Amino acid sequence: MSGNILVVEDEPKLSGLLSDYLRASGFEPICLSNGAEAVDLVRAQKPDLVLLDLMLPGQGGMEICKDVRRFSSVPIIIVTARIEEIDRLLGLELGADDYICKPFSPREVVARVKAVLRRTQGGQMVHGAVRDRGLVLDEDRYRAKLDGHDLELTAVEFKLLQFLAGNPGRIYNRQQLMDKIYTDERIVTDRTIDSHIKKLRRKIEAALGAEARLIHSVYGIGYKFEPGPE
Ligand code: CA
Repeated sequence: MSGNILVVEDEPKLSGLLSDYLRASGFEPICLSNGAEAVDLVRAQKPDLVLLDLMLPGQGGMEICKDVRRFSSVPIIIVTARIEEIDRLLGLELGADDYICKPFSPREVVARVKAVLRRTQGGQMVHGAVRDRGLVLDEDRYRAKLDGHDLELTAVEFKLLQFLAGNPGRIYNRQQLMDKIYTDERIVTDRTIDSHIKKLRRKIEAALGAEARLIHSVYGIGYKFEPGPE
């Protein structure tokens, strides 16, 4: 795995450590210690991922995240010094892809960077999980191809599939799925999710055959994505 990683971090020790580990893992780190330049740098350099500290001189991480989201869907991992903060941040819908709490091990950060890139990189995010069935997700166009068949998904179905497939084997309840796919305050019921999943499954079955179940119901809990036995 490779790519340019923008590290916005004002503690020189930490950013040095992170960039060493990132470089050792094949990435090209770009380090920035002042938040004020972050948004322009994202625009100009188009990094593949941004590691963003929250407390920064110049401009804070939260603001940066919001500003970047106005023009870019670059994956962003927010780094915070307080674990209690993460719940609040999630509620703010900043559009970050993951959160890491300080103190962290650089090794863990690199693992998260890789996981987020796998999940978000257009087209290749779930190859590992689906293998030769070849699920290809094109985030910019909301198009999903499975085994060469265009699934013709609605935006909601696409988001559901993308989320579930990006976290194979993990079980999500309906509330978690709703939170993930609806960013506005709309009222949706459990049955809405069930009905989207049902349609999504039907489209997958139409592409792969009736036995090909990729999205499984977990009784009493919710759903998970798991390619069946070959
Ligand atoms: Ca800081």
